[in-house]
Amino acid sequence: MGVTLDLSRAAPRAAGPVNIAGLTRDELKAAVIEAGVAAPDKARMRASQIWRWVHHYGVTDFDKMSDVAKDARAKMAEAFTIARPEVVERQVSKDGTRKWLIRFAPGIEAETVYIPDVGRAGALCVSSQVGCTLNCSFCHTGTQKLVRNLTAAEIVAQVQVARDDLGEWPSPKEDRRLSNIVFMGMGEPLYNLDNVANAIDIISDNEGIALSRRRITVSTSGVVPQLTALGERTAAMLAISLHATNDPLRDELVPLNKKYPIEELMAAIKAYPGLSNARRVTFEYVMLKGVNDSPADARALVKLLKGVPAKINLIPFNPWPGTKYECSDWSTIEAFAAVINKAGYASPIRTPRGRDILAACGQLKSESEKIRASALRAMASVD
Ligand code: SAH
Ligand code: SF4
Repeated sequence: MGVTLDLSRAAPRAAGPVNIAGLTRDELKAAVIEAGVAAPDKARMRASQIWRWVHHYGVTDFDKMSDVAKDARAKMAEAFTIARPEVVERQVSKDGTRKWLIRFAPGIEAETVYIPDVGRAGALCVSSQVGCTLNCSFCHTGTQKLVRNLTAAEIVAQVQVARDDLGEWPSPKEDRRLSNIVFMGMGEPLYNLDNVANAIDIISDNEGIALSRRRITVSTSGVVPQLTALGERTAAMLAISLHATNDPLRDELVPLNKKYPIEELMAAIKAYPGLSNARRVTFEYVMLKGVNDSPADARALVKLLKGVPAKINLIPFNPWPGTKYECSDWSTIEAFAAVINKAGYASPIRTPRGRDILAACGQLKSESEKIRASALRAMASVD
């Protein structure tokens, strides 16, 4: 049997039953009416019941929905699914870092990583696309051809899989192990904003997974026209992959800069809804030897960020086969950090976690290992 890979950016229309874990409350309500599971006047209540079972209790079987009548459960099982995608591989590091390789469809795989002791309790790094259409010259994902947007259900599924494994159903009110989410896995979240925003609505809903939007960070390479929409639709925390402070260098490192140069990017960041000293933007800055890592670069960074409520996250470059870049020396990173510390910024440089499990990866994994390892570092400033 041949396998057809969807090379378009759009998320596919679901083949087979709709996974209701990816439906917003309104969509779920409409779906139960359409499937004949509830009359329009009862749909809100029915949708609320289902919602709690799926997002608060994490059930994967309609028959567990004990307060839903049997015939309604049977109808739901015909029209919808609440099954998890296949976890192809699971690894747990000595330090508690966990990663899952998840297969959403044939050839559509992404890794999700949980790192304890990041943020309030532990952070989950999720992917928004398989591959990426942007070609940042230091990023391995950018060299990967296959790109498909993940659906809202596939994004939510990454959180569900992690919570299955962490034993966090029903949603604990306190002492959660999964307290933060960062969109720092594969892909450019702002090229998949609808699905990312719907997924954030779902995972932040109080009667479900109930993660505060302030504990959800979206990282972007700088898709300027979507920044305001991101803030307005999600109220998520913003992280910007800056990496350079002048246009010629940023054009080279983050080619999207040619379209949206630094001045436009900074103006859009300053206008980000909800930005304040309590809700700072994280600027990610990858340390590339001899490219962007001099004390003068550090001073230029401080100057550029003047007046912006910011955190700076220095990411040691993670090399990959065929790359022309090298990671800055540790002493250079420290000297860089000293300049920005002096200007009043905390600049955490976190030692990568979960090295023991990242090391033992196969082919696809070795591709995404680069992303994962960088994501681990990128998360250093999440709180
Ligand atoms: N596409 C989004 C989010 C995913 S990338 C973005 O670019 O922001 C997550 C972070 O890892 C980004 O800051 C990215 O620039 C950084 N990154 C990518 N490849 C890296 C590498 N090889 N070494 C270190 N950081 C890297
Ligand atoms: Fe895409 Fe982000 Fe990698 Fe750039 S750094 S190629 S935007 S995933």
